[in-house]
Amino acid sequence: MSVRTRVAPSPTGTPHLGTAYIALFNKAFAEQQGGDFILRIEDSDAARSSKQSEADILDALKWLNLDWDEGPDIGGSLGPYRVSERLSNYESHAEELIGTGGAFRCFCTPERLDDVRREQQRRGETPKYDGHCLSLSDDEVRRRVDAGEPHVVRLRVPESGDCVFTDQIRGEISIPWQQVDMQVLVKSDGFPTYHLCATVDDHVMGITHILRGEEWISSCPKHVLIYDYFGWQFQELFHLPLLRNKDQSKMSKRKNPTGINFYRDRGYLPEALLNYLATMGWSMPDEREQFSYVDFVKDLDLGRITPRGPVFDVEKLDWLNGCYIRDLSDDEFQNRFASWAGDEQRFRKIVTMLKARTERFDQVLPQVDYIVGDRQPIEKDAFSHKSLSEEEVVKILDFAARALEELSSWASGEIGEALRTTAEESGYPMRDFVAPLFIALSGRSVALPLFDSIEVLGLELTRTRLRSAIEILGGISNKKLKKLDKEWAKLDRA
Ligand code: GLU
Repeated sequence: MSVRTRVAPSPTGTPHLGTAYIALFNKAFAEQQGGDFILRIEDSDAARSSKQSEADILDALKWLNLDWDEGPDIGGSLGPYRVSERLSNYESHAEELIGTGGAFRCFCTPERLDDVRREQQRRGETPKYDGHCLSLSDDEVRRRVDAGEPHVVRLRVPESGDCVFTDQIRGEISIPWQQVDMQVLVKSDGFPTYHLCATVDDHVMGITHILRGEEWISSCPKHVLIYDYFGWQFQELFHLPLLRNKDQSKMSKRKNPTGINFYRDRGYLPEALLNYLATMGWSMPDEREQFSYVDFVKDLDLGRITPRGPVFDVEKLDWLNGCYIRDLSDDEFQNRFASWAGDEQRFRKIVTMLKARTERFDQVLPQVDYIVGDRQPIEKDAFSHKSLSEEEVVKILDFAARALEELSSWASGEIGEALRTTAEESGYPMRDFVAPLFIALSGRSVALPLFDSIEVLGLELTRTRLRSAIEILGGISNKKLKKLDKEWAKLDRA
């Protein structure tokens, strides 16, 4: 049987490094085995999914040269490759499960489920569905369905015993059925949940090996059960370790930029980033740290993946990227730098800002240094302000980061609006509020218009610079953070 692997991102935000990491191992393994690598878009959460996010994910994977053999843009014999376009497929599978008793319809209202959850929590139990609708007679179910009563479809889970399955990286894993919830498989809007669409699609699409993040291990019993109910053969499972921050916590955007585009915009080379991701939980037999994708495909041995959480260390990536840069010929360096620096999408916005302020081209670079390049190094003193204490400056930087993180649309108008409201609500004149932001972002007190600059810098770089400014000012202790959380919650930013 030919090897088929897949990556199945949900299009609900900016392209994440984790998606690239998982895609890399799946693609390389399929390629090594002469198989196929599939991109499937799991837009099962209709409210949170967006076309923009899907397009950004595809672009980011293409930038990394992680292209696919079958996918939503190029099709393939087992498409379509978007969950939202395969709904009838899940419906028929859900019906089949209901027919064989592997699943049941549940009419419980959110209020009832809340009451059950509260009562279980009061008793110190882990909240889960109490099986209420399992006892409904076939007639009653039919009557309520015919009457159009809203309902979901849930998985029937054994009450005792353990689910035992093998993860090829960790060995045998055993999880008591008692810990497994009667998962909703089809929501009341008719959309499948992840558990149903992923299992059905993996089977129907002939996936042979599943390589995904370790956060999905706890979902495996539900998947094993669905496969058992259908009598399908389960795939070989490999749960790759979660990427971690330096302090070993799960990699989070607060501590490490997690967006692929952050790395593209900062001028990392895709081959260096791929190489670094390939060293996360895996190493070359000779332990060398710099190797090409071709060598990775040749030497990849899934048996060498370790479950220990690898630290994604940006300084280490800088070092590796530097090795790649030095290996470029002078011509390559020039061409690749020029195409990075001239990236149309990014620079379109600055062009308008710059034109109004430029008489000669030699005035351009000094104005955009902090946008094109790194921010100038700054010291604590740069933030001293005539009417703001150091503590207030830290608060402003922190509140600005929070306000920006909440934005659903990243455009200078919205950015300005959010900062203005935050300034007003926290009682600072706008002029004072923006002063530390200019310094944190540009390294100087006068720069191009702030909101436009923030738009072009993007959320991740803006956040990284605001957080680094906070660190320069001594950081925020846990006690202070709690105080800021409270103050932030009190602001009326509607
Ligand atoms: N849609 C899931 C995700 O976003 C896919 C998980 C899986 O690979 O099974 O990570």
